[in-house]
Amino acid sequence: MARPIWEEMVRHCNEERPNEACGLLSGRNGRAETIWRMENTEKSPVAFAMDTRQLQKVLQKMSLKGEVLVGIYHSHPTAPPIPSREDIAFAYYPEAAYLILSLSANKPELCCYRILQKQAFRLPFKLI
Ligand SMILES: [Zn+2]
Repeated sequence: MARPIWEEMVRHCNEERPNEACGLLSGRNGRAETIWRMENTEKSPVAFAMDTRQLQKVLQKMSLKGEVLVGIYHSHPTAPPIPSREDIAFAYYPEAAYLILSLSANKPELCCYRILQKQAFRLPFKLI
């Protein structure tokens, strides 16, 4: 992940506080090159959901750029970066990495997961 993407993700998650923020990352070869802020239609501090129409629009713009969905991020304003039961239940994109940015400590903490068959596996990620 490029540093400007990381910075924009942290900015977005901070701006949405106390609610969870969510968004998408697209790029090539598992590398996040573009960040797309999404609206959290739940407007909740403990849950997020995306609007299907906005999702379709953004996925279309991605493919026009020649990029694919590589990651889905959301924030945990007060909880550690561990997927909740709902995060795992509603993970519909097995090919994408699920990123959780926790704002519960002094410094933002990011964890990355692959969610397959209702199980979350930690994935490594690199800031470059
Ligand atoms: Zn969550």
